[in-house]
Amino acid sequence: MAPQLNIIIVGGGIAGLSTAIALRRSGHTVTVLERHSCPQALGGPIDLTPNATRVLIDYGLREVMEEAHVAVEGEIHFRR
Ligand SMILES: Cc1cc2nc3c(=O)[nH]c(=O)nc-3n(C[C@H](O)[C@H](O)[C@H](O)COP(=O)(O)OP(=O)(O)OC[C@H]3O[C@@H](n4cnc5c(N)ncnc54)[C@H](O)[C@@H]3O)c2cc1C
Repeated sequence: MAPQLNIIIVGGGIAGLSTAIALRRSGHTVTVLERHSCPQALGGPIDLTPNATRVLIDYGLREVMEEAHVAVEGEIHFRR
């Protein structure tokens, strides 16, 4: 069995948070450092293709995504 690691992730965007979930599911202790105290809106919605969406559903985020999404031709566009 792999040793449990203490991991720091700098950046709480979709990449950092997805990585944090994956590492926690693998049994590691994860700390996410984010410089902003609340999410910052940069541009339009985040477009996720179906393969990425399946990963987030597997992470238990289906309900959150269903609250926030607009689906267009199989892709999911997050508005917040
Ligand atoms: C202006 C703009 C418009 C965009 N529009 C779209 C769009 O319409 N549709 C779309 O799909 N994609 C869009 N994108 C791209 C999309 O935002 C990125 O692909 C996606 O957010 C990348 O996710 P990420 O987690 O890698 O990075 P980010 O979302 O950038 O997250 C990085 C995080 O790290 C934090 N951080 C950085 N440095 C530090 C530090 N030193 N210490 C602590 N925290 C730190 C930042 O505050 C940020 O929260 C846009 C990007 C920009 C810049």
